Amino acid sequence: MNQKIPTITSITPEQQQQVIECTSDLLQQCQHHFGLAFKPVNIRFDLRGRSSGMYVLKHKQRYLRFNPFIFAKYFDDSLKTTVPHEVAHYVSDILFGIKNIRPHGKEWQAIMHKLGVEPKVTGNYDLSGIPLKRQRRFTYACNCMMHQLTTVRHNKVTTGKAHYFCQKCDGRLNRQSR
Ligand SMILES: [Zn+2]
Ligand SMILES: [Zn+2]
Repeated sequence: MNQKIPTITSITPEQQQQVIECTSDLLQQCQHHFGLAFKPVNIRFDLRGRSSGMYVLKHKQRYLRFNPFIFAKYFDDSLKTTVPHEVAHYVSDILFGIKNIRPHGKEWQAIMHKLGVEPKVTGNYDLSGIPLKRQRRFTYACNCMMHQLTTVRHNKVTTGKAHYFCQKCDGRLNRQSR
């Protein structure tokens, strides 16, 4: 069975690179404003569900998580709002310590102002078309982009019961190693 799957999936590797560059620009701006060099922060594009971004401090590791589906649907807005929002959480943690401040308190708000971004807390996105279930996804690629396949589809590919093709380029989807 050959099946075409919808193309509203995940952001492209090029867009991921843009997010990484945007983050590093924002950290440069913070360095300028606060006179402190902030270490580059790791970024993961593995957030699912209704949140577009999250700052994590876990086992002394600091990283940002972004939702590649919401970013794909609202890419420009995500760069303008979600990325600075999470960067400001990281910077406020480095400057004040996450335990000493409220998440969206005056310290965080002041950083957002320095970055020229309105310190809003909730994005109001229409999330239709965005996978909301926390289910495992498998990364595949055609000739033009990455696709996230469900476990059911992945198993069909593995057992040779189905092949999937990109709606945009008609290319066959192949499993990516990561
Ligand atoms: Zn926040
Ligand atoms: Zn394609």
